[in-house]
Amino acid sequence: MTIDASFKFRQWGITCITAIGCFLFGVTIVIVQGINNFNSEKQESLNKAVVEIENILDTSSLIIDQIMPLASEPCQNTKSKLVDLAIRYPEFQTVSLLVNSEVVCSTYNGLVHLSMLSNDSRKNELILMKSKVIEPGKIIGVIKKSKGKNAVSITLNGRSFFYILSLIDSDENFQIQAFNQWVGKEGVLHDGISRFNLISYSPKYNFNVHTYISFNTYVTELYQRYGWIILLLVMLSIVISRSVFLNVEKNSSVLIMKKAINKDHFVPYGQPIMNANGELAGLEILIRWNHKSLGVIYPDAFIPLAERSGLIIPMTRQLFTNTIHAFEKMPHALPKGFHIAINICAQHFEKSNQQSLIDSCREFLASPISQSSFLVLELTERGIIENYGEAREVFDSLHDMGVRMAVDDFGTGNASLSAINNLNFDYIKVDKSFIDLIGSDAVSAPLVDNIIDLARRLNLSLTAEGVENQVQVDYLKENGVDHLQGYFYGKPVPLDEFIQTYLK
Ligand code: C2E
Ligand code: CA
Ligand code: CA
Repeated sequence: MTIDASFKFRQWGITCITAIGCFLFGVTIVIVQGINNFNSEKQESLNKAVVEIENILDTSSLIIDQIMPLASEPCQNTKSKLVDLAIRYPEFQTVSLLVNSEVVCSTYNGLVHLSMLSNDSRKNELILMKSKVIEPGKIIGVIKKSKGKNAVSITLNGRSFFYILSLIDSDENFQIQAFNQWVGKEGVLHDGISRFNLISYSPKYNFNVHTYISFNTYVTELYQRYGWIILLLVMLSIVISRSVFLNVEKNSSVLIMKKAINKDHFVPYGQPIMNANGELAGLEILIRWNHKSLGVIYPDAFIPLAERSGLIIPMTRQLFTNTIHAFEKMPHALPKGFHIAINICAQHFEKSNQQSLIDSCREFLASPISQSSFLVLELTERGIIENYGEAREVFDSLHDMGVRMAVDDFGTGNASLSAINNLNFDYIKVDKSFIDLIGSDAVSAPLVDNIIDLARRLNLSLTAEGVENQVQVDYLKENGVDHLQGYFYGKPVPLDEFIQTYLK
């Protein structure tokens, strides 16, 4: 109930946008980086494939140069040399010598007297074709060179290419393109140029190795590689958006609270404090937020944030001013010795805030109400410890001004008795949780006695808060408690009403 619906809506909106934004940002980075990595791996494989095929072609070209002069010799002298070569190099299918484009000697007899590539001017290049002999229909590569009327042609086993490709990347469908023909893993020769998005060209020969990576392949690949990162991103987005959620809530609430201070929407309520005879002895000022749409908001809903954000300082200042104004309007004087208690907090003792508290007290002491009343500042025991050093000096100055100090919520914090003693408190307010035990059960009742006893040993005036019934009143009176406060006597009411009810 600390922020209204429009802020909730805005808060959720900003949180959702942050969550989606973080997630999309992360996913985009993962996708871009993932695709880059994947592409460069594939590109490297293509480059490797090109180098391997070039090696075969280089070897073939070298051998062709070496055996070129053999074309002029009779086949019976040269044939065994050619066969040796075909055996030594497993990628060679046939080695043939040509004169005037006619095969004159070949490792495969069926080629002799065939005219091979007679009109083909493509020399020292890889030419892809379908084999007509030995393994008809299978892919072969042909490399041919000529010198004068002599020529040498080597046919390369298509399987050696596919073997290279599968060694380099068994998953990918790499294709070899030479001139206007290409062949893929399945070993079928196609005319034209195949589809690709990654390619590696041979700088030495007129061929390239390429591949086409489909959208589905990218998706599957990214999912397999980076699926866990997506999960991590979801978690990270939740963590970030949660902190944004809290931050927006804090800032929105702080903003609303700031506006409310400017519009003077924080108002003082008063709750009566009685002496042991049941007569009005003073009141405690309790802050309320008059919210335009939510109505009256109780301090527990906004004081913690006001303290964390530092807004408690201007808020308390305003409360002082409003309290002074409320009593100024009163037509008659306050009962003698009436005390007005205002709650302060640990933040008031920080260096930068001390002056604000002292100024507020001065404002109070300079006003007409201070003539018949005195000011009590209630500081909760839970806030004393951390600020002990800082608090001491301020306490002294306040005491010098005539302000009295009360330990609030006594028994609930960890303040040591010596710390409480050193700070020179004037009152102790025993916390409601102990008063609740009175008349409840026998087991916890001694706790109340102990707390009262502890307070008494400090030799300070005792106030019991949260008194709700006659049993508690009787018990507290019997045990010498000086002041009583609680619904039994009256709930906190707006100051005008308080004046009407208790101070007529
Ligand atoms: P507190 O100072 O201990 O104030 C007493 C709280 O107990 C008040 O709640 C009061 O309404 C409630 N109370 C009093 N008698 C009874 C009773 O018989 N039965 C029950 N059930 N409750 C009773 P409230 O006004 O909601 O204030 C809650 C707390 O908010 C206060 O506790 C105090 O710690 C803080 N607070 C209130 N006003 C201010 C302020 O102006 N400045 C600062 N720093 N804190 C404040
Ligand atoms: Ca109090
Ligand atoms: Ca209290």
